[in-house]
This record gives sequence, C-alpha cells and structure tokens, in this order.
Amino acid sequence: MSQEWNIRSRGHACSVCAQHFTDKQPCVSVLREMPEAFERRDYHTLCWRDEKRDWRPYSFWEGAYEAPPVVVKDEPVKKDTAETLLRRLILLEDPAMRNVVYVLAIMLERGKQLVERDAKPQEGGGILRVYEHKKTADIFTVLDPRLRMDEIGTVQQQVVAMLSGTTHLQTAAPVAPSAREAGAPVPS
Ligand SMILES: [Zn+2]
Repeated sequence: MSQEWNIRSRGHACSVCAQHFTDKQPCVSVLREMPEAFERRDYHTLCWRDEKRDWRPYSFWEGAYEAPPVVVKDEPVKKDTAETLLRRLILLEDPAMRNVVYVLAIMLERGKQLVERDAKPQEGGGILRVYEHKKTADIFTVLDPRLRMDEIGTVQQQVVAMLSGTTHLQTAAPVAPSAREAGAPVPS
C-alpha cells in the first residue's frame, strides 16, 4: 500500500443497515485494507457481529458514537495547534514530513487527544500505528519510523518551531536526509 498515513472520519450511519447512529450508541469501528488506501467502516455492534464477510479487518475496536457538535461559523483564524498541524501535514502527504507527522501524533497521544488502537510492523520497516481521536473519532494512520531518542528530540524542536510560527511549512527543512527517501544506504 502506497499511503503510509491518512485520516479517516467516522461514519454517521451503520455500514450494514444504513441507520444513523444515535448519541452514545455503542459501535464498532473497522479499518479494511484496500489496494490504494484504508477504508473505514462503522457498524452497530450487532450488525458487525452478524455481517457475513469474505474479508478480514485490518483493525477493529469497539467504541461509542458521539453526535458531532454544532459547528460554530466565522471562527477567528487561530494559530496552529499540534492537532491542526498534524491534519494539514497528513493531507500534504509529503514524505519529508514523515518524522514530524509521527512526533505530532506521539505528542497528541501523550496529551490524551489521540488513543492508539493498533500497531502493525511494516515490511518496508517502521510500524504503522492506528490512532483514534478521542472527541471526533477520526482515525489517523501514521508510520512510526522508529526514530532514536535523540532524533525525536531534534524533530520535537522542529515541531515547536512550526507551532510557534517561526518556521513556515513551505520552508521547513526536511527531517529525513533525502538519501534515505531515495533508498540509498544510510550511514549508521
Ligand atoms: Zn446497523
């Protein structure tokens, strides 16, 4: 699969019966691995249990549906938070931002905004981690590149600079050496 990270929003209706979830209703969230990307499905607990399927889920877990909050319009433009930065970077799909994306995800997990739901070692190296947003239930799939502690520290400094506005996204230096992206041997 080419996409190493992504965001998948929670569905508001069951994938089997198409009925809308009600607030606090127990549900099962499922990630299915497709050729191009993950597909997310949300189910009533019983609909998931009784569905006849010829495929195996990549990940699944139980949770409770939360009705989305009423959207407040005309919110003033705010500075990036770790979460908005993570969302923007994930959409960019820039391999040079891979380490930043991962460190942002750890920061949000430590801040109890994201919950890790699954972790799968990847053939190409690294671990694909599945995070769920505690409030919105969005799923973030993020590649954990297995950074060393000192590398994490360097990336964290970069993240802090990006959040404080001293580094702009367009000019941010790539964290990973370009040689690594091209598959060249990395000096150890
Ligand atoms: Zn259902």
